[in-house]
Amino acid sequence: MSEPDISIAPHNEPYLPQEVRARLPELREKARWIYYRLLEHYGEPDWRPHYPPLEELIITTLAQNSTDRNALQAFRRLRERFPTWEAVMTAPVEEVIEAVRPAGLGNQKGPRIQAILRKLWEERGDFDLSFLEKMSTEEAEAWLTDIKGIGHKTASIVLLFNFQRPTFPVDTHVSRVSKRLGIAPPKATTRQIRAIWETLVPPEWYYPLHLNLIRHGREVCKARRPRCEVCVLRERCDAARGEETG
Ligand code: SF4
Repeated sequence: MSEPDISIAPHNEPYLPQEVRARLPELREKARWIYYRLLEHYGEPDWRPHYPPLEELIITTLAQNSTDRNALQAFRRLRERFPTWEAVMTAPVEEVIEAVRPAGLGNQKGPRIQAILRKLWEERGDFDLSFLEKMSTEEAEAWLTDIKGIGHKTASIVLLFNFQRPTFPVDTHVSRVSKRLGIAPPKATTRQIRAIWETLVPPEWYYPLHLNLIRHGREVCKARRPRCEVCVLRERCDAARGEETG
């Protein structure tokens, strides 16, 4: 079977590792196999936003270095304590830090959430992120990552989940599974892993593949004790074959 044309998006050029460039056809074929294997095993996840864009951005910010459960608990506390987003923005920062405490790193996340709200208020006069819809993906990502503490992972989750934009979010599970499988080099950064997946698979696969890799990382390819004996990806996994994956 002939390989499709390989194009590297300009925004990914600086991040694609040389060892991946040298093996693109082979890695594209392996990525395709992984995609279909996971789809066969876990099925196609529903395509729908989990929350409206601003809520998604704040919950994702709370989930940094935390669990979804603790992030949601912190989000609920924040909503219970402050009646409006304006009230969150103008509250003494200590009160916001205290409200989001269950998510951990409240000293960083409290000010970060206020910075999001302030930027929106100062530039837009409201708390509505839907204007991102009218921007190009690069412009929208630049707008989001301009906020202190908002990185490409958080931005790409909002852009993919809420605006169906072609960005591939890489969290700790996606990162670990990608390295063990041998799709990404052992020392690849999350931004590099995003560039790799975005170069290997078509945009319409990003959403299901991202969610299925997370599910696989949580249920099977666990951080401490991967359950290789029941893994549907085992036959093509570098780590399972004993190759160094870091
Ligand atoms: S074979 Fe093991 S290390 Fe490889 S993806 Fe599966 S669970 Fe992870």
